[in-house]
Parts: sequence; structure tokens; C-alpha cells
Amino acid sequence: MKHRLSKIMTPILLCVVLTSTFTTVAFAVRYITYDGGLLDPVVEVENRLDYRIFHDCVDAWNSTDTPVEITSVPGSGHSYIISGQWDDTWYGLYTPRSRQYVLWGRAGKFKIELNRNTLVSESDTVRSSVLVHELGHAFCLDDNPSSRNSSIMNYDRDRDYLTWPTSDDVAGVNAAYAD
Ligand SMILES: [Zn+2]
Repeated sequence: MKHRLSKIMTPILLCVVLTSTFTTVAFAVRYITYDGGLLDPVVEVENRLDYRIFHDCVDAWNSTDTPVEITSVPGSGHSYIISGQWDDTWYGLYTPRSRQYVLWGRAGKFKIELNRNTLVSESDTVRSSVLVHELGHAFCLDDNPSSRNSSIMNYDRDRDYLTWPTSDDVAGVNAAYAD
């Protein structure tokens, strides 16, 4: 998400390509909650990707100690993850659908899009880092501008390395689904 607009007025999260700034200072990270995540973290998802990263990314979330449970399903009408070509700078885009209060609130399902224009020259590791990040939005985690590598939601995480939810991400998801 590039612009920190009012969440109520921001129906989608644009996860942009940002120039990474290395730092030797580590800050304590704490998750930021996003209100457009799923109402129910047990979700059926259609895989419409051209990349072969779907199952690894799903496993990365399903193996966390959280209520998250993603099942891959065929057909249409579910949440889905798709790749396509958009003439823009973002890697991934999360769109909540069927929100509780139409324009805001938790989502009944989601759409995640991966941009082949920006990912074409990247490795599957980078693509996985992007998809696991986008799935983080589905489980109520917001983009986090804090320090490098301590959250899959960090802008400046090392996408050639971090492809799994960290303990901070797990804490955030568990807090979002605590009740
Ligand atoms: Zn994001």
C-alpha cells in the first residue's frame, strides 16, 4: 500500500515496488491490523496463477499456529489468486470483496492479483514473498513500514529471502481472530 489513506476510503491495497534501504538498526516490530481481512480465516481459494508458487505459499500460512486454513478449490465464485499484466509498478494487489459494510469491514472473500509486468524477471522466491505478503492482508495484517525481515508485511523485507509469516505476523493474525 503506497498511500496511507483512510482505510474506509481505500478499497484495495497496492503493494508497490519500493527502493530498499538497508539499515543496521533493528527496530522492534509490531503488527498493524488491517480491517479488510477475512471475517473467517478458514477459506476456499481458487488458484489461477501462471506461477507454480501457490501451494508453497498456502502451506506457509497453513503451517502457522493460527486459525488460518486455506483450501485450494476448483470452480468460480470463491476467493481467488490470479496473475496478469498491469502497466503499473506494483507487485501484488489485495482486494477485499463482500465486505461487512459494503465499503469497509471484514471481507467475505478476496481477490489477489500478481503483476507479471513487475515479476517477470524475478525468482519464484520473490514471487512467493509477494504472495505470502498479500495473503497476510487476507488475514488482517496491514503493510508495515518497520524494520527489515522481521515481518512478511514489511515494505523493505528481503524478498529474495523471506517467504513465510514471522512470529510477529502470527501474533497479529491471532490477535485479529482472538474472539
Ligand atoms: Zn501490502
